[in-house]
Amino acid sequence: MAVFKLDNVEDLYAIGNVLGSGHFGQVREVRERATGVLWAGKFLKLKKGAGSRLGLERKSVEKEVEILQSLQHQNIMALKDVFESRAELVLIIELIKGGELFDFIAEKENLTETEAIEFMKQILEGVSYMHQKYVAHFDLKPENIMLSDKHAPNPDIKIIDFGMAHRFIQGEEYKSLGGTPQYIAPEIINYEPLSTAADMCLSGLSPFQGETDEETLRNIVAMNYEFEPHYFSQTSNMAKDFIQKLLVKDQSERITAEECLVHPWIKPLNRTQIAKRNRSSINMKNFKKFNARRKWKMSFNMVSACNRFCRLQLLCKARGPEQQELRDCESDQEDTGTKPASLLRRRLSSSS
Ligand code: ATP
Repeated sequence: MAVFKLDNVEDLYAIGNVLGSGHFGQVREVRERATGVLWAGKFLKLKKGAGSRLGLERKSVEKEVEILQSLQHQNIMALKDVFESRAELVLIIELIKGGELFDFIAEKENLTETEAIEFMKQILEGVSYMHQKYVAHFDLKPENIMLSDKHAPNPDIKIIDFGMAHRFIQGEEYKSLGGTPQYIAPEIINYEPLSTAADMCLSGLSPFQGETDEETLRNIVAMNYEFEPHYFSQTSNMAKDFIQKLLVKDQSERITAEECLVHPWIKPLNRTQIAKRNRSSINMKNFKKFNARRKWKMSFNMVSACNRFCRLQLLCKARGPEQQELRDCESDQEDTGTKPASLLRRRLSSSS
């Protein structure tokens, strides 16, 4: 078992504002008392006991830490330190100030494909680096692609949240059911052996989006998508070819991150290809609509989860103390039976 720093994190860091929350805790700005340098602190609640269903298994955080420690790349969030107490682990990580890439783009009036490619290239460089180290992220999606500083002339992409990541060992068979419905590969839904290729079968606009999560998952398994003229009329053929090579059901046939980096859409071979790319642009009206819908869905999931938790608390209070014990209605018990698929996403089931 890995041993982390046992000092009280507050003795060494002043804890500041909340930057974001995940399913198992919060991320807050922290200031290192000795140097005044700002970092982010990811506070992760651990399971209270073997029977407790809320909180994370220590082992799963150890895995996230081990993976982050092994990755040092400009486009991947860096880990500085880890502290542990009885109830939680605190990861001190690089502070990423620029927010989500998609929010930054949605604020723009227009974006050429050339500008979009600059961001895409950085994402691919980060992904290609981790894949070379046999690490798959397994939760690449807009929420996990952030910008170092949105006011910088050329902000760096930072890939965050390695909570579902896995390092493959040669010859190992690894399966997992985790992921976010709009963005998971068909082999995950089908519970087949996985590889780093699962990180590649995605597109930011989720062309598989259905009316319900079930419909979305069915569309992915059937690889049911089309380039609707309404959305893709301004998109270059090279960009469509690039997307088509990613949205391939057979993982062994899917383009790798390294191959993506030399695809002519990313790395044009001649002046004509450069000119074509410069003439094409992103349909910002559709992008803004998509981003607003994505944000709405995220808040809806969060509110539903809070409502379920509050209902459970009220139920526990309404029953007397004996009944409460009889029914094992712990205040930290999760109602997984009724959770939407997007909330079942993390660290639930995986096997090697
Ligand atoms: P989830 O349950 O979604 O997997 P999590 O508990 O693993 O979440 P993260 O996704 O890593 O947590 O972080 C939650 C949110 O905190 C992010 O969406 C982001 O807004 C913010 N955040 C995470 N890391 C950083 C960072 N290094 N700097 C600034 N903000 C961050």
